[in-house]
Amino acid sequence: MDVLGLTSDEFAQRLQSRRARREVMLKYAAVYRRDAQDMDDARADLPEIGKTIVDAETVKFTLQVGGGLETESVIIPMPHTGGGFSRTLCVSSQVGCAMGCGFCETAQMGLLRNLSAAEIVAQWFAARHRIENTIDGGHGFQIKNIVFMGMGEPTENLDAVLHSIRILTDHYGASIASSNITISTVGRVAGIQKIAEFAGQEGFHRLHLALSLNAPNDEIRSQIMPINKSEPIADIVAAVRGYPEVAGPTCIEYVLIPGVNDSMEHCDQVCALLKDVRCSLNIIPYNPRRNSPWPAPSEESVVAFIARAIANKQFCKRRGTKGRCAMAACGQLGSEAIRARKFVQVHSGVGVQS
Ligand code: SF4
Repeated sequence: MDVLGLTSDEFAQRLQSRRARREVMLKYAAVYRRDAQDMDDARADLPEIGKTIVDAETVKFTLQVGGGLETESVIIPMPHTGGGFSRTLCVSSQVGCAMGCGFCETAQMGLLRNLSAAEIVAQWFAARHRIENTIDGGHGFQIKNIVFMGMGEPTENLDAVLHSIRILTDHYGASIASSNITISTVGRVAGIQKIAEFAGQEGFHRLHLALSLNAPNDEIRSQIMPINKSEPIADIVAAVRGYPEVAGPTCIEYVLIPGVNDSMEHCDQVCALLKDVRCSLNIIPYNPRRNSPWPAPSEESVVAFIARAIANKQFCKRRGTKGRCAMAACGQLGSEAIRARKFVQVHSGVGVQS
């Protein structure tokens, strides 16, 4: 039985007529924690690992999920302020994406299909147990945080995403704290409300939310993110305000694109928008996608934008650009092989990314 799509309770229910509950739970734990594959009725049916690319300490890998399609995931070291580091796994929720954000590599693929909860969990399993660790030696990486920021828009496949979070937080399995999991969305109001409802349940109160905002007003956002035409900024900011406070500040992602959204006036507009929202503004210097109409921003413009936000009393920080060389940074996941199967025109509008 493939256990990657099941919580330990669901697994026990399948087997409880044959085994005592405790024994069943230990078997589940053995698969998740020790990669034990020698039991008749429990194993991880892991899709085959495709490419693995190591760039400095960032590891990008693919899993082959059938029909020539692949997931893409990235293991990213996150330095701690006091020294040391932990590893974050960025997972995909879909193969490709239908959202068409103008600055995004994945958008060029269009949507090929949703991933199942098991295929999402398989990305953690491969990272934890199977990816060859040429950095530390041995196999697998200790993963502390999980972010849904890979290929796909999580609210477009929310049932599978939320079920995968139930599995990843299972105490007998991966046992990732919900406070260490972040769902990043372009901001579908109904999706944010559904995530908020889920976070209201016992055990998920601290599930983090990230909103990919990327623009100071509807005019610019609609040019670079087509979703904005049906879900305007005022509505999504209101939905973010309704997200449970106990989860901590919402991360507002802002990809800084030269000539598109990077002026001081834009900064003032963003800060005004976010006034009274419990959030952290995360500035992400644009990582040019292939055939990008925009270059990366200059260091001076990034520093100036952040300084202006801080002067506006907006809590603001800069996200690092680890993985740029491996095309593993924000908005740059996407397989060349898959794109060759299907190419869609992406909207470049004013000229930006998410
Ligand atoms: S930025 Fe995210 S939502 Fe937008 S097209 Fe890319 S993967 Fe999809």
